[in-house]
Amino acid sequence: MDLRLRELRLQEEREFLESVALAEPDGNLEHARGPMGENTLDQSPVEEDRRGSREQAIVPEPLMTDGDWQVPCIPKSPRDANLILEAVKRNEFLRCLGDGQSHPLVESFTLEQRQPGDTVVAEGDDGHTMYIVAEGELSVMQKGRQLRTLLPGDVFGELAVLYNCQRTATVVALSPVQLWALDRQTYRTIVTENAKRRRAEILAGLRGVKPLQGLSDAALSQLLDTAEERTFAPNEMIIQEGDEGRTFFYILSGQVEVTMNVEGREEHIRVLKAGDHFGELALIRNIRRTASCRAEDEVTCIAVAKEDFQELSPMCVREPEAEVQEPPPLPETRCGPVREGPLTRVYLQEFLPVVYKDGEKKGKPVILGTGGFGTVDLVRYPHEGHDYFFALKRLRKDHIVQKRQQAHVLMEKKVLQESHCPFIVSLYGTFRDTRHVYLLLEFCKGGELWAKLREVRYFPEPVAAFCSACVIEALDYLHNQGIVYRDLKPENLMLDGKGYVKLVDFGFAKSLNPGEKTYSFCGTPDYLAPEILRHEGHDYAVDFWMLGVLIFEMIVGRPPFHSSEPEKTYSKILDGIFSFPVSVSEAACSLVAKLCRRRPGQRLGTTGNGIRAIRKHRWFSAISWKKLALRQIEAPTKAMLKMGYPYANFRRYSVPGEVPEEEFSGWDAEF
Ligand code: ATP
Ligand code: MG
Repeated sequence: MDLRLRELRLQEEREFLESVALAEPDGNLEHARGPMGENTLDQSPVEEDRRGSREQAIVPEPLMTDGDWQVPCIPKSPRDANLILEAVKRNEFLRCLGDGQSHPLVESFTLEQRQPGDTVVAEGDDGHTMYIVAEGELSVMQKGRQLRTLLPGDVFGELAVLYNCQRTATVVALSPVQLWALDRQTYRTIVTENAKRRRAEILAGLRGVKPLQGLSDAALSQLLDTAEERTFAPNEMIIQEGDEGRTFFYILSGQVEVTMNVEGREEHIRVLKAGDHFGELALIRNIRRTASCRAEDEVTCIAVAKEDFQELSPMCVREPEAEVQEPPPLPETRCGPVREGPLTRVYLQEFLPVVYKDGEKKGKPVILGTGGFGTVDLVRYPHEGHDYFFALKRLRKDHIVQKRQQAHVLMEKKVLQESHCPFIVSLYGTFRDTRHVYLLLEFCKGGELWAKLREVRYFPEPVAAFCSACVIEALDYLHNQGIVYRDLKPENLMLDGKGYVKLVDFGFAKSLNPGEKTYSFCGTPDYLAPEILRHEGHDYAVDFWMLGVLIFEMIVGRPPFHSSEPEKTYSKILDGIFSFPVSVSEAACSLVAKLCRRRPGQRLGTTGNGIRAIRKHRWFSAISWKKLALRQIEAPTKAMLKMGYPYANFRRYSVPGEVPEEEFSGWDAEF
């Protein structure tokens, strides 16, 4: 987002928060979240809350495809390699992220030299590189205040390897300094390539396992997603002869000795190594272990639990849906005149700006929202004495091209154009000119769910269950179309005039084949799934993780992994540890825990009955899914809708009157 726009927006967030805080005696403005940054600060602990500013989404960055670019490869002395590995191990965030990935990264760190007084990173700048101090001393400063000193082995700027974040502090060399540097492009390329190669190798290995041979590629991939990685210490017994077998193991590294008891003596049978497997009979039969397996050195295995294998196997022969859903009625606004004729005959100029009729902004055009690439304006289409309202999403082409987001904008248009679901905002048409592309959308007059949530802090569980049910309908529709959504959060959910929830903002949506993974890093920090953070490839299961986070945020008032520092949020996500306040019902805890499982293949929605398992969860026992699909339920959210001017449920935005650059590359010809 443009910096001025961002500042304005942050200022507005503050004003908005003040008004909320005035209404709430315990409102605390200190909790507003700052910009994303790296872990250079020793911040005092702040209470965890998400009533502060909304989070900026992280846009997927395409990897550079410049044919000349190569991953740097600089052999290191054992001392240098050790310094890098130890530094990564000591860093809480990188350690969680690493997961055995640090070794291949060592060779790609490049050496940089700095002189006393040189600035290495500057507060407010975009971050592209992380550093490990090899020699010398540096000072960390924020707003002119010295925070701490960095010495050899210290890490700084590490968030930059994940995404384009603003530096939150300045780091200056105090002496001649040598730094090991790693930029995001290199990090992503190596980690992603490794993850792909490793996955392919494991899948090839699993294909050779007898009980798994009947599984399709997609089912095998799904099985791998349920598996846990387990590490055994040297000499540790992995399985013991005679024990009940419940787990199958595939060796990733280390050696395993297989022994058998022959007439009271433990006899050596053979040694298994990386790529071998054992314990597969446990997957199909209730038998006791016929041999013992002991780790000879440190052994890492993929462990597949019998229950997961059994629960998963129906996935390979998915039964057709038992209940055929009746087609949902068209939303009310569809009756507007635009639908009657081909949209190409309607001109952008025929949609007139709606202006505020009261308050300080009286006479100014109504802006419903702002986002990464522009604004969403309220417009009207006068027809036979009646005004039809629409939301016009205006995206700046210069920013889109600059941030290389053309493919994502085209995807957003495509998904919206092909979606006909009452739980997804309708697209009526698209336009383009030299500076913008436009999406003409159904106007959701109830405003953002985010704003409603901030007003009341948290929703009673029946309200949250209704909102989640609408989201589930939307996700089910999208997944059936082969689309993963990837940006679930209250900011992207709008209420229509009846109080029904609709998904908007398809900037991160992606089409995926069954069993296929995607590797881009995107989403919103508090909502990121662990497999996205690890760059290990992700699929539909991220939407179920995000649904769990959303439900938690709706009923608690903050997301489960929230922390004042993004690195801490990420460590919590990777550990998968969170707790519920006592006020939350047992049913809600059970549902969220089942959706926010660390292993994507174990999440409710991906197992056995697919999304039907979520609908059947007891937290939704009061929801009539048939009536919901027909929009026949009285929405409990309706009580929150404000009556009056059409913009009554929206905050009032100011945007700089800046004119974007013209853009003629032609990527937007389809608009
Ligand atoms: P970002 O990527 O930063 O989340 P964006 O540029 O993709 O934003 P959207 O999220 O689609 O834009 O829209 C921005 C805001 O505009 C929404 O959060 C909402 O407040 C408002 N808005 C979007 N679509 C509609 C709609 N159909 N009706 C009413 N308001 C809308
Ligand atoms: Mg958005």
